[in-house]
Amino acid sequence: MRRLYDVIVVGAGSMGMAAGYQLARRGVKTLLIDAFDPPHGNGSHHGETRLIRHAYSGGPTYVNLALRADRLWTELEEESGEELLVRSGVLNISDPAVYRYEERFQDAANHGVAVESLNAAEMRKRWPGLRLPDSYQAMYEPNAGFLYSERCIAAYRKLALRAGAELVTNRVVTGIEPGDGIVAVATKEETFFASHVIVSAGAWFGAFASLIDLPIRAVRKVVGWFEPEDRSFDAGAFPGFTFGTTRGGYYGFPSIGGAGVKIGRHDGGVPWKLGEDPAPFGHYPEDEADLRQALSLLAPAAAGNLLRGGVCKYELTPDEDFILDVHPEHPNVLLAGGFSGHGFKFSSVVGELLANRIEQGEWGQDIRLFSTGRFTAGDPIKEATIQG
Ligand SMILES: Cc1cc2nc3c(=O)[nH]c(=O)nc-3n(C[C@H](O)[C@H](O)[C@H](O)COP(=O)(O)OP(=O)(O)OC[C@H]3O[C@@H](n4cnc5c(N)ncnc54)[C@H](O)[C@@H]3O)c2cc1C
Repeated sequence: MRRLYDVIVVGAGSMGMAAGYQLARRGVKTLLIDAFDPPHGNGSHHGETRLIRHAYSGGPTYVNLALRADRLWTELEEESGEELLVRSGVLNISDPAVYRYEERFQDAANHGVAVESLNAAEMRKRWPGLRLPDSYQAMYEPNAGFLYSERCIAAYRKLALRAGAELVTNRVVTGIEPGDGIVAVATKEETFFASHVIVSAGAWFGAFASLIDLPIRAVRKVVGWFEPEDRSFDAGAFPGFTFGTTRGGYYGFPSIGGAGVKIGRHDGGVPWKLGEDPAPFGHYPEDEADLRQALSLLAPAAAGNLLRGGVCKYELTPDEDFILDVHPEHPNVLLAGGFSGHGFKFSSVVGELLANRIEQGEWGQDIRLFSTGRFTAGDPIKEATIQG
């Protein structure tokens, strides 16, 4: 006899696991299927940390979601008893020729998000390790910080299973067939059935192009951990950061437990194709060189030996806004993808929105920015403005 679920989540990573938790705790019969055993090191969520900021570029949709996401992270901390969110502060720094923060100050003020404007001298005074050109400006968010990403997913996994969700790991979904009120989800071994399906396959979203073909591309990304000269770059003393330069947009984290200052680059990245193994860190000489030059410009004393390098992948939409929508032809298929390298902080609220849409028929927040219709409306797609 075939088993029928209320919801099958295809891809139980950052977004999928959060949705599984939200659904299961509402008593929705949920099956999560993942190609690996999440959290894992093959997709977009590994490498310990992800920035969470609230004074976001891209307008009020993001600010509202970031604030709600933050609330849900603190609730998850309370429920799981795990430390997940560290309010290290996040210093957003930019060469004014590349980016200016006026609009974000305005959005922050409109939403009661605490932010400070700092010039280069003020930054150097507060964090003496910084060596920035005088023209650089910053927007400092004292209540922002970072999330321990794998711990967040592990916490959601534990609580989702406790609430009754089922999880099938190391199982690749090979096809999704929406039928009359029931969706069939095929794996090599067996086919599962549900009233609703959430597609949250991250960098593999394009594998479901036969279900919906959207303009998404996936890229290989690298991050490096560098040994700082002294303890002034330790967590507790140094903030998380984003750093806009004429060469590119970078982001980073203080040294946590002696792991080194972590830095990555938001723009660029070698294209990654489905089924390929991304080249290991160091395969391209610029893997290290590019990160080192950015960290040296920001804080030369932080750019010591490379302690570790990591490779990750993510998928991007042309405007770097997310895809969070009901399938245009199949009302029982929900799409959650295209998180464009800045989605983790929102995964708690994305899980809630998906559960709202399935359980109540409404998202509960205005997320029209993320509709699939923007790719087919005939209007030019706006340029990406997101910074990490
Ligand atoms: C280096 C790096 C730095 C980043 N920094 C930040 C940051 O500072 N702040 C921030 O907010 N965001 C950041 N991001 C982005 C953020 O991590 C991602 O947007 C987020 O993790 C995406 O979540 P996801 O659920 O879409 O993908 P994932 O967490 O990768 O989950 C997708 C899941 O789908 C599964 N899957 C795929 N195909 C199938 C299939 N056919 N069958 C079964 N399962 C399948 C995969 O195994 C995976 O577990 C960063 C990303 C990277 C790579």
